[in-house]
Amino acid sequence: MDDEEIIKFIRQRLQQRELEEMNEELKKWAEEHGIKLEEKEEKEEKIEGKCEICEGREAKYRCIECGKIACLSCFWTLLGICKECLPEEKMKELKEKI
Ligand SMILES: [Zn+2]
Ligand SMILES: [Zn+2]
Repeated sequence: MDDEEIIKFIRQRLQQRELEEMNEELKKWAEEHGIKLEEKEEKEEKIEGKCEICEGREAKYRCIECGKIACLSCFWTLLGICKECLPEEKMKELKEKI
């Protein structure tokens, strides 16, 4: 991915995140009013094993870019990609452009 693509991607993810938060609020509101919303089935992959980035901690996430599993500190949870695909330095640099 080049910088432009990553920035676009981050923006998309941020928008998606806002939508998710809106959905959460809607869910809460519906619950309070006794309205049953259709729950969409969420299939979460079970990730087991050691982080493939630092090889120290337990992995909890899978990178959508490279497919490696990573622990919390080696992963951008907001973006769904690992810090090997998007190093912290790069993220700092890109954040200024968002
Ligand atoms: Zn790690
Ligand atoms: Zn990755």
